[in-house]
Amino acid sequence: MALLPVGFFAAGLGAPDFTSASAVLNLLGRLAGVVGLALLLLAAALSARVPGVDLPFGGLTKLWRTHHLLGAGSLLLLLVHPLLLAFAASAWGQGLAFGTLFPPLSDRATWAGWLALLLMMVFLAPSFAFFGAPKYERWKRLHSLAGPAVILALIHTFLLSRTMPGPTDTIIWSLFALLGVGAVGWRLVFSRRIGRLPYTVTRVDTVADGVAELSLKPDRDHLRYSAGNFVYLTPFDTGLAAGHREEHPYTLSSSPLEPELRIAIKALGDASRAIQTIPVGTPVTVEGPYGCFFPPDSKARTAELWVAGGVGITPFLARMRHLRALGEGGDIHLVYAVQDESRAVYAGELRQLAAEIPGFALTFHYFFQEGPVTAPFLGTACPDLARREVYICGPLALNQLVRDHVYRAGVSADHIHSEEFELL
Ligand SMILES: Cc1cc2nc3c(=O)[nH]c(=O)nc-3n(C[C@H](O)[C@H](O)[C@H](O)COP(=O)(O)OP(=O)(O)OC[C@H]3O[C@@H](n4cnc5c(N)ncnc54)[C@H](O)[C@@H]3O)c2cc1C
Repeated sequence: MALLPVGFFAAGLGAPDFTSASAVLNLLGRLAGVVGLALLLLAAALSARVPGVDLPFGGLTKLWRTHHLLGAGSLLLLLVHPLLLAFAASAWGQGLAFGTLFPPLSDRATWAGWLALLLMMVFLAPSFAFFGAPKYERWKRLHSLAGPAVILALIHTFLLSRTMPGPTDTIIWSLFALLGVGAVGWRLVFSRRIGRLPYTVTRVDTVADGVAELSLKPDRDHLRYSAGNFVYLTPFDTGLAAGHREEHPYTLSSSPLEPELRIAIKALGDASRAIQTIPVGTPVTVEGPYGCFFPPDSKARTAELWVAGGVGITPFLARMRHLRALGEGGDIHLVYAVQDESRAVYAGELRQLAAEIPGFALTFHYFFQEGPVTAPFLGTACPDLARREVYICGPLALNQLVRDHVYRAGVSADHIHSEEFELL
């Protein structure tokens, strides 16, 4: 899609002038602007978070990665865009080069472009970790500057309107603008009204130290989802110490056949800590489902190795509960890595489910006794792992370690699937 405006831009050039450095720099400068704006608007379009749109990308966490890459590419191109144009103008003297960069204030088109660039640098700075590891809430607040940046970049382009011939320019950029601005509009306005389902908290069970399982009853329609999906949960309780009206992503740990949703939440920060004691009867909204950790038609027909770390057990628990509810089995081996038995969330239920699901094997790995998960440990627990489809969900370090071990053991990259509980 980003190449579409480039094609029209190239078509409008006719026979380009490559005879002077100045002409080539001018061409590259304009091209950088065209591709940079296209990437910016596509990044905006991807921020819509419409359930289902994430599937071709391999889930929402992977879609965000594409969004980040597009945003970063866009910033780099839009930074070199004015520089190349100024270098091109310098063939006619430094004054003209300076005037290209900083024209009189009456040149609203150029100043709109500068302002857009400035806003981009501000809202993308935390994504590039310029000021250390970004704090999620600060990152999110700064990211709302993306809207004005996109509008200013569009004003800059429409006022200059010389990137493509004739009405093509207006048509192409209007289409891209519609995608980008429409997506942001959906996210900020409509998804809150029509994209979220109201639920009520019916139970709060402490399943381990610092981990609560919430049961949620639908007020109207029931969410349709698959085992392994996650949702954005927003609680509405002014009494919460933190997280009132804040949306946070959590994996559904219930079987899709259950009448209520279940979500296991580990206290990892202020909002997830506060929700541990959320009162029964609290209204919440649920947005989703997102993700495709397990392929949609996966019914454990192939041999699988699952590796979970800590609260990363939730998608596997959902799938085990679902397999039992369906009365199905499979050739599945679950390795559950925890610090010690006391931190093994759902240990009792997992053992029971493993005994009830035909063809299911379960191995615990205790970090305090055995150290990090090693290749020999995995090889001993699951000797035929090289022929298995591998699913990993846990802290990033565990995901990378296990991915590395199973890859070296002969599992090709396209048979290794992982879910990170990190979106930044
Ligand atoms: C796909 C996915 C599935 C998840 N499933 C579960 C689960 O089943 N159970 C569970 O306990 N946890 C799950 N998490 C993690 C959970 O979302 C975070 O622990 C929670 O949002 C932390 O919020 P906090 O305010 O308590 O902590 P903070 O200290 O504010 O944040 C800790 C970290 O959580 C992330 N985070 C914080 N707020 C948000 C937000 N609104 N949206 C996205 N990320 C945020 C940031 O990376 C931050 O660094 C999942 C995360 C993702 C991305």
